Amino acid sequence: MKFSNKNTKIWSKFYQKLTQKRKKANIYYSKGKIFASASGVNCEYYLRYLFDGTEKKSDFYWWGHEAQIGNAIHDEIQSDFRHSYKDKVKIETYQAFKIGDITINAKIDLIKDDRVIEFKTVKDEEGREPREKDYMQLQFYMGVTGLNSGTLSYFKRSNGVHINSFDVQFDEKVFRDIVEKFERVLENKELREDKSECQYCDFKYCCPKFGG
Ligand code: SF4
Repeated sequence: MKFSNKNTKIWSKFYQKLTQKRKKANIYYSKGKIFASASGVNCEYYLRYLFDGTEKKSDFYWWGHEAQIGNAIHDEIQSDFRHSYKDKVKIETYQAFKIGDITINAKIDLIKDDRVIEFKTVKDEEGREPREKDYMQLQFYMGVTGLNSGTLSYFKRSNGVHINSFDVQFDEKVFRDIVEKFERVLENKELREDKSECQYCDFKYCCPKFGG
């Protein structure tokens, strides 16, 4: 799959403008609803906090500008596809998946030729290999749509340049593992922690596993 990099200069300017206005932001999720990006989360304590709608408190200046840059790059790529393929692609398809009382919302970037395509904006040094959490998110999307093929496409957050794309085949076992992980958390089984992410975790202020 080919991507044009014609907008590099625009992204660079946009990025600089946003990084000058970095802001800390606390994030709230509604209880009972989460995004499918949580499919790749390995810490079940973290999932419990998401499911409960606990306030996220970030120590890092990442939400304000990085999320906006990511959204802007997504908009531009999607608009290119909309323009080139018109009604042959589905852009931002929403699917909801229920597990008990929880709704997992999937917002799928693009579906083209029965392939689920997920765009990721990453740091310049990333995107050479598929990240595990992105792989799991894509597997979840393929599972809920019933499609067998997917692609992970990485773009530099700093300038919107396409880095790499990876084709992925649906793996029923990975999808079942993700659903079972959600079920374990909902059923309040003994939760499994993953402290490797604690340093950057938005819930460490309240998580007993981290000493909160
Ligand atoms: S602080 Fe660590 S153990 Fe607690 S939710 Fe975050 S990642 Fe999981």
